[in-house]
Amino acid sequence: MMSTTHAAVGVCFAALALPVAPEFAVPAALGAIAGGIFPDLDVAVVAHRKTLHFPEHYWLAVLAAFPVAAVWPTDYTVAAAFFALAAAVHSVSDMFGGGLGARPWANDDPRGVYSHYRGEWIRPRRWIPYDGSPRDLLVAAVCSLPGLLLYDGLVRNVSAAMLAISAAYVVVRKPIGNFAARHDL
Ligand SMILES: [Zn+2]
Repeated sequence: MMSTTHAAVGVCFAALALPVAPEFAVPAALGAIAGGIFPDLDVAVVAHRKTLHFPEHYWLAVLAAFPVAAVWPTDYTVAAAFFALAAAVHSVSDMFGGGLGARPWANDDPRGVYSHYRGEWIRPRRWIPYDGSPRDLLVAAVCSLPGLLLYDGLVRNVSAAMLAISAAYVVVRKPIGNFAARHDL
């Protein structure tokens, strides 16, 4: 799944703060966007879907951060809690996407996301066949609705920008993958 899809999913959770604590809904959303994207920074580091993906351990951060935010609600504690939640949901949901290879639509790789707890790769379920697939864009679009409709200002603008980036990525995803596979990148 695209990083932008994960960020939009995070905003869906953050939007739950709107009826409860509207004054913290924006930091919740911004924390969720950052946390939704954060695990995929490992694409540029060592091992994608491994180094910064923790399908189990991020939940410990969630368990620690939400009580802190509830007892001591500030912009930063709330943002941190939703950052952890979005990163945790991201890491788990990557197992429902495609494999890690350059051309995941060809069903070419058995690695979905790495479980540091089990010390092995979790196989991809391919409900979302690959990152940048039309179904991925559909999920991104649906999950962008709270950010677009319930928020204004920065969160709405970022949600719109991410959706535009997602749509563009879907168009170029296969050519990029085919190019990478041909040149063994
Ligand atoms: Zn990921």
